Amino acid sequence: MDKDIATPIRTKEILTKFGFQFKKSLGQNFLIDTNILRNIVEAASITEDTGVIEVGPGIGALTEQVAKKAKKVVSFEIDQRLLPVLDETLAPYSNVSIIHSDVLKADLRLAIEDNFKDITDIMVVANLPYYVTTPILMKFLEEKLPVRGIVVMIQAEVADRISAKPGTKEYGALSIAAQYYAKAEKVMTVPGSVFIPQPRVDSAVLRLTIRDEPAVSVIDEPYFFKVFHASFANRRKTILNNLVHNLGPKEKKPEIEAALAEADVDPQRRGETLSLEEFAILSDALYKRLH
Ligand code: SAM
Repeated sequence: MDKDIATPIRTKEILTKFGFQFKKSLGQNFLIDTNILRNIVEAASITEDTGVIEVGPGIGALTEQVAKKAKKVVSFEIDQRLLPVLDETLAPYSNVSIIHSDVLKADLRLAIEDNFKDITDIMVVANLPYYVTTPILMKFLEEKLPVRGIVVMIQAEVADRISAKPGTKEYGALSIAAQYYAKAEKVMTVPGSVFIPQPRVDSAVLRLTIRDEPAVSVIDEPYFFKVFHASFANRRKTILNNLVHNLGPKEKKPEIEAALAEADVDPQRRGETLSLEEFAILSDALYKRLH
């Protein structure tokens, strides 16, 4: 079998052979370091019983390392120019299916049903296109798909925000949204030199382990999301001011003050100091007053 795709030499050979030009607008930064790829695969604990969904195979660098370990890989690629490349580079791997689609528009549940019929252990693994990191992660989380977890290469700064603890400057709406669905850990930081071309920002591998049940139970999930998003609208404002100005026309100051009191949250605190549990209690207290 050929040597791994993810070496600088083989990658350059493939790019030259197909006359491939990177499209910055599609977040195309390909990995050229097999050790990093193996670390990603290891962080996902993939076995021969695992089905893997990949986003953006590029020329197949990560896909190949996953295909060596997993039962099956289904990979979504938006860029049509990569299809003939992948046909050739992944020819040795009969357990890979490429779907030509924007992953944000894909019916993921259907793709899982169609491709992973006899598979119960499903992981999402990707070196994500950085221009759509958050929408892609939120789609996988919000659709409550039957997946065990998500291991992705993303911007280090976003990995820090997603895995942040209350009271830190990185903690915000994204931390709460992700941690509501999953346990979040930054697995490692990664230097730019393992990509071609090198991205302008630092990168990190993030692991999300999906919870059996969301971290907190709330009366109304969309309302809970509205409450914590409103609480972070202006980071310098107190939670009271943010909720008064950003939650909605129905939520007037007296109700908000009463709900904060019920939730035992000082109105002068800032959103970044509240735990997920506190947001859940606060959201329920507000919801009960207004519905
Ligand atoms: N997995 C490869 C690797 O690690 O070398 C390539 C990763 S590159 C950072 C991101 C890939 O995602 C590119 O192949 C790009 O064309 C693809 N992509 C960008 N936006 C996409 C989208 N919305 N849906 C599916 N694939 C997308």
